[in-house]
Amino acid sequence: MTQSNLILVLGDQLTPAISSLAQADASTDIVVMAEVVEEATYVRHHKKKITFLFSAMRHFALELENAGWRVAYTRLDDPNNAGSLEGEVARRLARHKSKKVVVTEPGEWRLLNAMQNWSRSLGCQVDILSDDRFIASHSEFAGWASGRKQLRMEYFYRDMRKKARLLMHGDKPVGGKWNFDSENRKPAADDLSIPEPLRFEPDGVTQDVMRLVQKNFAEHFGDLEPFWFAVTRTDAETARDHFITECLPSFGDYQDAMLVGCRFLYHSVLSHYIHCGLLDPLDVCQRAAAAYENGEAPINAVEGFVRQIIGWREFIRGIYWLKMPSYADPNFFQTERKLPAFYWTGETDMRCLAEAITQTKEEAYAHHIQRLMVTGNFAMLAGVSPTEIHEWYLAVYADAYEWVELPNVIGMSQFADGGLLGSKPYAASGSYINKMSNYCSHCSYDVKQKTGDEACPFNALYWDFLARNQDQLGQNARLRNPYATWRRMSEDKRQTYRDSAAAFLSKLS
Ligand SMILES: Cc1cc2nc3c(=O)[nH]c(=O)nc-3n(C[C@H](O)[C@H](O)[C@H](O)COP(=O)(O)OP(=O)(O)OC[C@H]3O[C@@H](n4cnc5c(N)ncnc54)[C@H](O)[C@@H]3O)c2cc1C
Ligand code: SF4
Repeated sequence: MTQSNLILVLGDQLTPAISSLAQADASTDIVVMAEVVEEATYVRHHKKKITFLFSAMRHFALELENAGWRVAYTRLDDPNNAGSLEGEVARRLARHKSKKVVVTEPGEWRLLNAMQNWSRSLGCQVDILSDDRFIASHSEFAGWASGRKQLRMEYFYRDMRKKARLLMHGDKPVGGKWNFDSENRKPAADDLSIPEPLRFEPDGVTQDVMRLVQKNFAEHFGDLEPFWFAVTRTDAETARDHFITECLPSFGDYQDAMLVGCRFLYHSVLSHYIHCGLLDPLDVCQRAAAAYENGEAPINAVEGFVRQIIGWREFIRGIYWLKMPSYADPNFFQTERKLPAFYWTGETDMRCLAEAITQTKEEAYAHHIQRLMVTGNFAMLAGVSPTEIHEWYLAVYADAYEWVELPNVIGMSQFADGGLLGSKPYAASGSYINKMSNYCSHCSYDVKQKTGDEACPFNALYWDFLARNQDQLGQNARLRNPYATWRRMSEDKRQTYRDSAAAFLSKLS
């Protein structure tokens, strides 16, 4: 009898094109999938995120069975569930008398490290294949990074554009330049007409998962209902097409804008579908590029969108695998503050933070500028420990996997790596938030006041941050102007800023 290999498919590998399945034989091999408590709880993931992944896994198992695969699927509430991926693989090896496990590499160092020991601990052959859903392999990124003093996304992105043949005329970028960001970043007017992302009614499978999540993860952060994410490939593709027709044309213009009550603006809200395998990233970019070629979306929007995926997404992943495991630890500013309690409730008088956190709780989503310039900026200015804020981001977003979340938080948002990923910290006072949003006109703090109880807290915190980190940042060429302004201030004024920040931070504790 032919020996069955076990093909382990993880919750973020939900595509028949994944390398483990692409090399397998549906007539002999057995696909193993498992909902395990260890993966759902190593941080306390948002209820919507767990529901999304378990339901998408169940739908994918059905898709595979309909295509002729044998699928050994373990539900969370199966009394025999071993509770961990290793335990589940051990159980299936014994049950099917298999000698070999094939798996596509996971997206987290923690799990890869564990899997690399499985052949010893489980006494079988374990083949870990590379994940070819990305344009750049680990070795390609390492080769690109080797010998460079600074790793900057822009140059890497140009190579990816050439490799993927996206928005190219021969060797030249379409539109005559690589990057159209200078045409983006417009603030949004209050009366813009903004389409909502497509919402999908939970079917019977999703409703079962929702009950399971409510029963087993009631203490986790976030609102379970209303649950509206796509959980099948077909629905995710419908959401993708809706974005390209309705939102992409204005994506670039309002990419950095924020408005009270407008949770998605013209963003795609596709990241959780892309990461888990329901959508193919290159295909999404090719469709966006086709919208430009057909005259349905302008170049600033399409280039900006494509850059997020083949530029930032690929670059961030490259950094993660290049630097792990040590990348989880850096703490450039040596900060130790606990995460303020309002990050779990949204209950704060600071309107910008209340908006970003409340929608995170309700939707498991916030867009990039909310993550970077509101919740991330505040945590950095207030001196929150990088580990605390990293664990928060990993738990609260439907698209959070360590490979993409950690460099965005440690590198981009907190500058905890001292500048490996970015050339300066994304630190800003209230005036940036006021310029890019209408939050301040709905806030009980006054963004124009610089110090005192009624002043926007970001203002004093910004100067306090620069002052207390002068040793680390004083020589940064991109901070020359703010430090020159700081030095020109009178001693009294500087002290008033520092006292105001200290008074605010003492209440925060
Ligand atoms: C502090 C912080 C934490 C973040 N954590 C995550 C995370 O856990 N998971 C995650 O996917 N993204 C994360 N990001 C990046 C970005 O905020 C999200 O990818 C984006 O908000 C997802 O929403 P969207 O699909 O509507 O994106 P859009 O604005 O529509 O962008 C299109 C796509 O580009 C990709 N993309 C855009 N920016 C980035 C980026 N900086 N890094 C990687 N991919 C990017 C995503 O795949 C996204 O779907 C984080 C950013 C910051 C500043
Ligand atoms: S005034 Fe300050 S705290 Fe209030 S919304 Fe504006 S930036 Fe946020």
